[in-house]
Amino acid sequence: MAQIYSATEMLERLVAFPTVSNSSNLEFVAFVKHYLESHGVAVTVLPNLAGDKAALLATIGPKKPGGVVLSGHSDVVPVEGQTWSADPWTLSARDGRLYGRGTCDMKGFCAAALAMVPQFQAAGLTRPIHIAISYDEEIGCFGVQPLIEHLVNKVPLPKAVIVGEPSDMNVVNAHKGTWALMTRVTGYEVHSSICHTGVSAVMSAARLVTWLEDQMMQNAAKAQMSPAPGAFTPPYTTLHVGRIKGGTSGNITAGYCSFPVDIRVMPNEDMDHWMALYLDRTASLQAELRQIRPEATISVEVKARVAGLAAEDGGGAETLAHDLSGNGTSRQAGFGSEAGLFQEAGYSAAICGPGSMDQAHQPDEFISLGQLQACTSFMQRLSQHLSA
Ligand SMILES: [Zn+2]
Repeated sequence: MAQIYSATEMLERLVAFPTVSNSSNLEFVAFVKHYLESHGVAVTVLPNLAGDKAALLATIGPKKPGGVVLSGHSDVVPVEGQTWSADPWTLSARDGRLYGRGTCDMKGFCAAALAMVPQFQAAGLTRPIHIAISYDEEIGCFGVQPLIEHLVNKVPLPKAVIVGEPSDMNVVNAHKGTWALMTRVTGYEVHSSICHTGVSAVMSAARLVTWLEDQMMQNAAKAQMSPAPGAFTPPYTTLHVGRIKGGTSGNITAGYCSFPVDIRVMPNEDMDHWMALYLDRTASLQAELRQIRPEATISVEVKARVAGLAAEDGGGAETLAHDLSGNGTSRQAGFGSEAGLFQEAGYSAAICGPGSMDQAHQPDEFISLGQLQACTSFMQRLSQHLSA
């Protein structure tokens, strides 16, 4: 017998799966798959290579173009080191709020969509609703890639993708792109009294860090000169190094140094251009170092690449989200999301989801009942829109 859930009841079930990004989400996926199939919905499960995680795509309604994708992620951030007033994996209701890890980011949106499935089924949709649930969003948006590939190859073109990241049900039409890189410098150790014969990985890394900061300063200066710098804070591409590790002693040229690089690219700029620039810089420095010691090496590993979301000119997803949410204005987000990757693949994409980013990733994360209800209303209007 197919079970009916309210959005809150569904959220209670979803929160109970501790789908932290470093652990499996297969039990979560199995539950959702079973629920959807019990309502007669065809489900595609897309497992990862290791077989310990999976993405899920379900289509309700006719297999036709012009549908709408509701996109969420199953993974949540860890609770270690955070002080919670109650068990983070048990939904608890207090003062009009539902507490639990992932309630806001972003199982609330997933629960609202899933709870609506029987209504979607009964609505007589003339164009489909696709529910897409990814994994590994919190650690670099990896799990949405196979979903997008599947959509591109197998699913008649949807007209819009709504990504339900917490935005207080406001419509977000733009965010920066993100590069997360790891730079590793291998030098050559000699006594510091003859440091001209060695290569200090630490000092070479410092030159790269300085170069990155110089680029950012130039960006800031250009933005200050611009007559219309745009609404991003700050309104330019940032290049940041937040940690550096290397060397063994003050009197030895450092043999090794590593540091992560975080580049946040304005959505109207080519993010691959920034990567190319950095690779040029590391290659020319490596060539210089090798004139001293051929062992010197600089490598750059891509940890994550999340495309920016650029405001579309009369974008289908943005317009639809305005209509369904009743919020006629759009804003920019300070966070990255899967929406940029959908847009890069050719889809019209916008963000609109329940809950506030202020609560995401926090201890005692919560979503208000009002927000969950607003999301359910959004989906009821979507159902009407696609039945008309
Ligand atoms: Zn999220």
